[in-house]
Amino acid sequence: MRIVLLGAPGAGKGTQCKHIVARYGLLHLSSGDILRQERAAGTELGKKAQSYMDSGGLVPDEVIVEMMAGAIKKAPEAGFILDGFPRTVNQAAELDKSLACSRQKIDAVLNLEIDDEVVARRMTGRRSCPQCGAVYHIENLKPKVEEICDNDGTRLIQRPDDSPEVVTNRLKTYHRQTEPVVDYYKNNNNSVVYDIDANKDADEVSALLFEKLDVLVEA
Ligand code: ADP
Ligand code: AMP
Repeated sequence: MRIVLLGAPGAGKGTQCKHIVARYGLLHLSSGDILRQERAAGTELGKKAQSYMDSGGLVPDEVIVEMMAGAIKKAPEAGFILDGFPRTVNQAAELDKSLACSRQKIDAVLNLEIDDEVVARRMTGRRSCPQCGAVYHIENLKPKVEEICDNDGTRLIQRPDDSPEVVTNRLKTYHRQTEPVVDYYKNNNNSVVYDIDANKDADEVSALLFEKLDVLVEA
């Protein structure tokens, strides 16, 4: 299965991908996570991405498309789920082109629909483990011990781009540049798009996603 998970930043894409990966054995490819790893490693790519990420804008398409095409090539037979990519119509078209070269296509698009107020609270309350990448929320998905990762005991951090000012910009960027990607897929006969209500609790959202994906797996 080759899946795209769309949704505003903070809609719960990473949280849901963990559950989807556990159930279907897909490779989770998060463009945001890959960029943060590149930055932490101090690579040229990481340096190029830095200013765009810190201001809440998008890293240029050509940089992202090349980075993600490379990651997709390494995906196992079972397939992959894309999280945070594509984020522009141009990225979606380039992804289709690159998959078509190896006679592949996106099988399904899952679109997490969420209100801006909810998503802003999710982003500003998000806490992440710098060691293992686990994601928590100060109210909704708390670690067992406040500010400490359940998995490895590392102190949790707040992503710098989850500050209220940057969150406002990221939401503007989402509506202007990424929301049109939903229509790109809806107007494209190759992929089926499922709209999912992501305002609900994480477990309820997982159940809605599994309902759709179980049918695809059985087909
Ligand atoms: P994204 O990958 O789309 O940016 P995340 O999965 O990191 O979003 O989730 C953003 C924040 O919201 C995290 O702090 C996460 O713990 C929390 N969260 C995710 N899904 C839900 C949900 N359904 N209800 C409440 N909080 C959630
Ligand atoms: P995320 O972790 O998905 O919220 O991404 C964090 C930041 O990385 C975004 O605000 C962008 O600056 C950058 N980024 C991630 N994915 C993409 C993409 N597909 N296209 C452009 N920029 C991206």
